[in-house]
Amino acid sequence: MVERASGGLSDEAAAEILTRLKHLYPEARSGLNYTTPFELLIATILSAQCTDARVNKVTAQLFAEANTPESILALGREELESIIRECGLFRSKARHIIGACQMLLAEYGGEVPADFESLMRLPGVGRKTASVILSNAFDLPAMPVDTHVFRVSNRLGLVKGKTPREVEEGLKELLPREEWNQAHHLLIRHGREFCKARKPRCGVCPLADVCMSAQRDR
Ligand code: SF4
Repeated sequence: MVERASGGLSDEAAAEILTRLKHLYPEARSGLNYTTPFELLIATILSAQCTDARVNKVTAQLFAEANTPESILALGREELESIIRECGLFRSKARHIIGACQMLLAEYGGEVPADFESLMRLPGVGRKTASVILSNAFDLPAMPVDTHVFRVSNRLGLVKGKTPREVEEGLKELLPREEWNQAHHLLIRHGREFCKARKPRCGVCPLADVCMSAQRDR
C-alpha cells in the first residue's frame, strides 16, 4: 500500500477505497427524511446523539403539524418540547430550533441560506450541520464529519486527524471536490455496516486488504 509523506494513503489507494465503497453501497444517502432545506435543518438539529430512525419518527409528526419557521414558532416552546422529547436533549434542541426559526425570519426572509457562514450563525448549527445542509439540501460540495466519518477515515488511513476539523481538511485535500458529498454518505454507511465503533468486523470487511488499521493489526 502506498502512503503519503504525511502518513495518509496515496491518491490511488484512496480512489480504490472510494470505488469499492461505491460498489458496496450504491444507494448510500442521508438516513433522515425531509422534503425541504428547512425540514433537513430541523431534522439535523434533532439528530444530535439520536438515531436517524427516531428522528424520522418524531419529524413525521412534527412536520405534519409544522414545517416552516412561522408554524414551528406558532407551536410554542412547550408543545415543541413535547413533540421532540423522544429525541433526547429536547430542551436545548427546542431552544436551538426556536432561535434558528427566529433568525431565519428576521434575517433570511424565512429561507435557509445556502452558504456556510450564514448557516453557522444559526443557533444549534456547527460545522457538521452546516455541511450536511449544504451537501444534502443544496448539493454544494461539503464534507460533514460525524463520529462515523471521523472513525472510519482514520482507521482506513484516508487521513490521520485528531479532531473532526483535521479530518474534514484531510478528506477535502485527498478527495476530488465532486466526490465529497457521496464519500461522506459512503463512509457513514461503512461505519454502520462493518467499521463499528466498538467491534469493527475486520474479519469480514471487504476493505481489509486496503485498510491501514487492519494491515497494522496483522
Ligand atoms: S478492516 Fe476493520 S478497521 Fe478497516 S475499514 Fe474494515 S472494519 Fe474498519
